Amino acid sequence: MKKHNFSAGPSILAEEVLDQAASAVLNFNNSNLSVLEVSHRGDDFNHVMNTAKLLVKELLNIPQEYEVLFLQGGASLQFYMSALNYMGTHNTGGYIDTGTWSSKAIKEANKTGRSITISSSKDKNYNYIPKDNYISTPIDYLHFTSNNTIYGTQFHKFPQKYNLKLPIICDMSSDIMSREFDITNFDLIYAGAQKNIGPAGTTLVIIKKDTINFNKLPSYLNYHTHIDKGSMFNTPPVFSIYVCMLTLEWLKNKGGINNISEKNNAKANLIYQTIDNNPLFEGVVEKEDRSIMNATFKLKEEHAGLKSQFENICHESGIIGINGHRSVGGYRASMYNALEIESVDTLCQIMNYILKKS
Ligand code: PMP
Repeated sequence: MKKHNFSAGPSILAEEVLDQAASAVLNFNNSNLSVLEVSHRGDDFNHVMNTAKLLVKELLNIPQEYEVLFLQGGASLQFYMSALNYMGTHNTGGYIDTGTWSSKAIKEANKTGRSITISSSKDKNYNYIPKDNYISTPIDYLHFTSNNTIYGTQFHKFPQKYNLKLPIICDMSSDIMSREFDITNFDLIYAGAQKNIGPAGTTLVIIKKDTINFNKLPSYLNYHTHIDKGSMFNTPPVFSIYVCMLTLEWLKNKGGINNISEKNNAKANLIYQTIDNNPLFEGVVEKEDRSIMNATFKLKEEHAGLKSQFENICHESGIIGINGHRSVGGYRASMYNALEIESVDTLCQIMNYILKKS
């Protein structure tokens, strides 16, 4: 039976990508060697690394003055590394707190300097995106999380560098490659690969080269090291980067970001309309801040008795990964690029069926 994979990350990858990856595990580029056993310094892997970087640049329309890196340590290492590299004269980073992931970034910033929370949606269990981002204290940069994977909130309008006159750092782990945006608004973007870029194991970093300090930092934690060494300072996660390259090629062949963005909007419209039109369910997040990638919703309290019936039918229909994060409860449908609208439709039909039966 076809599985409808709504997992939040690691998450669904395109079938073609998995087929190609599987065959490269056995025989990579007709070399009679596995992609898992070739040198990262060899021509074949060099080609993979360069192609993956070029595809990121092409898909996101990235200008010359930016560098694309594939690092390790996940987005979680970037919480600390970004603060370490971007803290300057004020030894302070400004943060928009939209819950778990930005809260973790704040915690890490406090280990290398100071953080100021510019705005927060904690007062309503992070069910909205704070809009009033007035900065009254001198800070070295502004950091925010473009899409909060857990709460299902998303910035649909970014804070503007032009107005703020500050470096902007963004954790785009769960919505990069899902929609078009102007890269020049940002000095640093980072994203764990395991949603729209590929499998877990590498972290995409896009960095404006002239905005970082030349501090005496530990080599791995200094962005300059990785820019100078072309993401080959140490052995890179070869297989993960290879599957990222395949995924980026797949995305390009699908018509690029513009095209996938339309599909993502169609999927999101379908699920949110179903939630709003079905009296058994309710959305978790303020409508204007709903995420296109992660739709969070609940059975209304008075219909909580339908929980096991709903979950059993989902299970029987091959739907997996829709349990909400423990801090929110309810359900979360993660609809990353590789998820087809048919999967969202299957989930929506089940929600409608439960209503008809109740
Ligand atoms: N930021 C966001 C928005 C995330 O969704 C996640 C993981 N789901 C992280 C950061 C942490 O990423 P990693 O596990 O790669 O450290």
